[in-house]
Amino acid sequence: MKAKQATVLAKQQISPDLIRLKFASPEMIGVELPFSDHYIKLFFIPEAADYSWPFDLATIRETVPREKHPVTRTYTLRTFDSASGEFEVDFVAHGDTGLAGPWAQRAQIGDQLGFAGPGGGWKPEDSYEHFVLAGDEAAAPAIFAALEQLPAGTTATAYVEIANKQALFDAPSGPAIEVVWVPRDGATHGTKLIDAVRAGGYPEKKTSWFIHGVAEMVKETRRFLFVDGQVAKEDASISGYWRLGMTEDQWQITKRQFNEENEAAERAALES
Ligand SMILES: Cc1cc2nc3c(=O)[nH]c(=O)nc-3n(C[C@H](O)[C@H](O)[C@H](O)COP(=O)(O)OP(=O)(O)OC[C@H]3O[C@@H](n4cnc5c(N)ncnc54)[C@H](O)[C@@H]3O)c2cc1C
Repeated sequence: MKAKQATVLAKQQISPDLIRLKFASPEMIGVELPFSDHYIKLFFIPEAADYSWPFDLATIRETVPREKHPVTRTYTLRTFDSASGEFEVDFVAHGDTGLAGPWAQRAQIGDQLGFAGPGGGWKPEDSYEHFVLAGDEAAAPAIFAALEQLPAGTTATAYVEIANKQALFDAPSGPAIEVVWVPRDGATHGTKLIDAVRAGGYPEKKTSWFIHGVAEMVKETRRFLFVDGQVAKEDASISGYWRLGMTEDQWQITKRQFNEENEAAERAALES
């Protein structure tokens, strides 16, 4: 896998908690991206390492000890222009801890870093009549990209959790779109969001669900969908984008077990 290069072209504070960076990437010119949830893996070089960007990933992996390999952080392409190779990423500014959040806060025009991807695999399909999308600020870029690609004749309700009412930001709008802002107002991430999704119930129209964000919310929402609502698994894209108190590396290592435990609890609840 060859790392691609991203150069910061513009920086905008789109809400008190979100920083939008626009990047240019020559390797992305002409790339076709068919989905609405495309994401990239940004590379951050550990402080103790003695190399810098640009680097060749294969060479680093062969010649540098594992603890000094680049650390990855996953981010959605909020917008992408295939003709120019330019894309925008909305970073949650979640304080001083971590790599990507603090980097985005410090980022300046001209800064460069490497990335891998894009990956992705979901978009609003025209075989559905309605879409329910839910997530916190980290999932808002994928949710809003999906709202911008709604098939003709379909409708969508998007639940987006934000810190408080002062933390609103621009959302797609139109007669087919309902955006429900869910202020945390000091509550733990995800708790108000699951309450809002539950209160919305199960639409009568043929519905596709896109639920992403803090892992604890995803666990509860899976129960709402797959146990209480008997929603078919193929009608839902649902996963934890991050987990409270864990770095992305820690979350990636434990994610499989977390998912398996959730699935086992759901099977047990369905059998009881
Ligand atoms: C497919 C995918 C797409 C994603 N797209 C986006 C995106 O477009 N924008 C975005 O901001 N994030 C997105 N994320 C989530 C992002 O990858 C994680 O939030 C990541 O942990 C951030 O890295 P960091 O270096 O800032 O913090 P880390 O070093 O990973 O974590 C440090 C601390 O910060 C906490 N933390 C991490 N993220 C948050 C948060 N959002 N709010 C509050 N506390 C947090 C952690 O729990 C930990 O305690 C996406 C994740 C996935 C899997």
